[in-house]
Amino acid sequence: MQIIPFDQRDGYIWYNGKQVPWKDAKVHVLNHGLHYASCVFEGIRVYNGKAFKLTEHNERLIASAKLLGFTVPYSVNELNKATNEIVKTQKIENGYIRPVAWRGSEQMAILPTVATKTHVAIATWAWPAYYTEEAKMKGAKLTFAKWKRPHPETAPTKSKAAGLYMIGTLSKMDAHDKGFGEALMLDYRGYVTETTSSNFFLVINGELHTAIPDCFLDGITRRTIIDLAKKRGINVVERRILPNELKDAQEAFMTGTAAEITPVASVDNYTFQVGPVTKGLMQDYDKLVKA
Ligand code: PMP
Repeated sequence: MQIIPFDQRDGYIWYNGKQVPWKDAKVHVLNHGLHYASCVFEGIRVYNGKAFKLTEHNERLIASAKLLGFTVPYSVNELNKATNEIVKTQKIENGYIRPVAWRGSEQMAILPTVATKTHVAIATWAWPAYYTEEAKMKGAKLTFAKWKRPHPETAPTKSKAAGLYMIGTLSKMDAHDKGFGEALMLDYRGYVTETTSSNFFLVINGELHTAIPDCFLDGITRRTIIDLAKKRGINVVERRILPNELKDAQEAFMTGTAAEITPVASVDNYTFQVGPVTKGLMQDYDKLVKA
């Protein structure tokens, strides 16, 4: 399938308060977001024409910007309304939404003064599935990343900040070069954390085990899965996990807006089955997003 480059598509993007033609949604090269990474974003799914967990995502967008010291000049309600409108204009039934907020090009200096404005755009496009159902059920092959999640005093790790994705991009490129589909990242202490774009769970003797999100993103899907597991009567343990504890797990999976629940077949030499706990939660999640 030929993919049309993103800047050459047709349609509209919501940009600073109005819907503009897709190709006109541009930024100047002297842009604080581009030079100094003052940029935060979200990833939201549209299922059957409806944005899933829209309020939670827009709340996180505003909170992420606040952690970088800038203010999104729209309320959650205004962002929700703008998102719903652009989804309608773009006629998206099953797709993806990318809201993004960044400091503009009013001033080129590390210290952003009041002269720097916050800009916001919301783009959406059809995107039925990140992984095909068949690929999903085979399970993804992961490798441990050489890059680590930083100490929360080194970076604003609770923010979905574009700058933090430098670590993810390097890790994912390295994993791909070695023939793996994803990278599982450890933190600065050597504990298991998350992948480059999803949270990570283990199933150990019928219980769910996942890392405490104290230096990485506490995913909206992660929290949803924890709730669904509890509803099924599954015990959920949030704790510090060492890499060699992967040997104790029968199943493993990733969770995220894009990944939904994706089973993991292996992390380097640790192997897992696509088992009953993962499959059950996949069904529950599928039902919930389409409800
Ligand atoms: N961690 C990272 C680094 C991510 O990019 C994502 C995707 N947003 C997640 C976890 C999962 O978060 P969510 O479930 O909110 O999409």
